[in-house]
Amino acid sequence: MAKARGLVAVNVEECKGCNLCVVACPVDVLHLADSFNTHGYSPAEYDGEGCTGCGVCYYACPEPGAITVYKNWEEAQEAYICQTKQVQSKLILVDSVKGIAKCEACGQDVILSNFSNLSFAE
Ligand code: SF4
Ligand code: SF4
Repeated sequence: MAKARGLVAVNVEECKGCNLCVVACPVDVLHLADSFNTHGYSPAEYDGEGCTGCGVCYYACPEPGAITVYKNWEEAQEAYICQTKQVQSKLILVDSVKGIAKCEACGQDVILSNFSNLSFAE
């Protein structure tokens, strides 16, 4: 399996399910979830492999903080900004297989790359 070079984090409650990132991704590794957030939108999800870390999804997204690209889990943990409270926060891993974390500051779910399928490039 090809090594992923990026870790995509989707803030479930900030995402409006507009699909722009899904269409914009050059390697087609994003889709909309089957589930809904509390606003009734299906948030973007990562397929679990193939992200190049290009950042196109981040620039395509009209919702500040809905989707963020990190180099790896360590960077994501250290650099995460809570979009609800607009403060530096931490991500706490909840489910490493499904790639679910929680923002320490607001408690909202953040969907990450599927950890069981990922190994990160140097
Ligand atoms: S960083 Fe690039 S390759 Fe990865 S999900 Fe976003 S658009 Fe796709
Ligand atoms: S992450 Fe942004 S671009 Fe992607 S579906 Fe959600 S709101 Fe739209």
